Amino acid sequence: MANCAYKRAAELGADGALFTDGINRMYLTGFPSTEGAVLCTEDETALLLDMRYALSAESRGLTGVKVVRSESSLTADTLSYARAKGVKRLIIESTAVTVYELERLGAAFEGIELIPVAGICGEARQIKTAAEVACIKKAQSITDACFTHILGFIKGGMTEREVAAEMEYFMKKNGADGLAFDTIAVSGVKSALPHGVLGDDVLTENAFFTMDFGARYGGYCSDMTRTVVLGKASDKMKDVYNTVLEAQRLGVLAVGDGVPCKAVDAAARDYIRSKGYGGYFTHSTGHSLGLEIHESPACSPKSEGVLKAGMLMTVEPGIYIEGFGGVRIEDTVLVTEDGCEVLAASTKELIEL
Ligand code: ZN
Ligand code: ZN
Repeated sequence: MANCAYKRAAELGADGALFTDGINRMYLTGFPSTEGAVLCTEDETALLLDMRYALSAESRGLTGVKVVRSESSLTADTLSYARAKGVKRLIIESTAVTVYELERLGAAFEGIELIPVAGICGEARQIKTAAEVACIKKAQSITDACFTHILGFIKGGMTEREVAAEMEYFMKKNGADGLAFDTIAVSGVKSALPHGVLGDDVLTENAFFTMDFGARYGGYCSDMTRTVVLGKASDKMKDVYNTVLEAQRLGVLAVGDGVPCKAVDAAARDYIRSKGYGGYFTHSTGHSLGLEIHESPACSPKSEGVLKAGMLMTVEPGIYIEGFGGVRIEDTVLVTEDGCEVLAASTKELIEL
């Protein structure tokens, strides 16, 4: 993977690339740390770490990565390492370096030209390796197990917070490194808020309850949404639910290698519109994910991207009716040569608890 970073740097006339962003450091080396620097040059990927992390990284035996101990200042040590490697023109990440850091690096790296560039790893990160897919599948299996568990846990009189806490505990207890993002667990009229914040609200009877959640495994995220009904669903609730369910099915069906992202969005959106709910689907149909929960590309009406085999995408249409409630159904899929593989195993049929 480091070669992809160096290759891109060389295309831009540089002889090295410096990564300070934590996610890209993790991507290039497989080693998570709160601080550090990755220097990609023609012949190596060097991971500079202070002593809090260096020993642990060394003992892990990272493939294709040289761990360099920083025993004084990380910036000074990175500079002297870059000088020793003969770097003259160095790419830095314009989206990760602050104005303050740019000024500081500029002063410290005197004699080396700094070239700020956005998204050096961006394109490579879109296509997942088999190892990355395996991590996401494991995260998804924890997420599916969590859904099964929580269906047997939810009872009338519980609060959103109680349910979410149980979900989070279950995922961590069953192998998750952590959460992919803050769990969304919103009931009743709050389910009409696509990113509603859970609280001490008691679950509303005979109303929608939306859970959007995911685990993190090996640094990689899963993402799934299921909407259930606590009690009985009315005819209107069933109509809304089944409309989202069919839109989600059509969205998944549209996914494939070479398909424009906006075509996936249109497949789901056009169906919802045809059922008269067009004004209530207020967000994009999906997004890519990996080390971050929201990655590029997205499937929205304005997306210019094209899906490629090896991408991981969510398909998550929804209908949100203020004062009534909302439904979202979300799966993560792996784009393949001839369509896609749905990673989620959890049922999407309407569940009345
Ligand atoms: Zn989600
Ligand atoms: Zn999502």
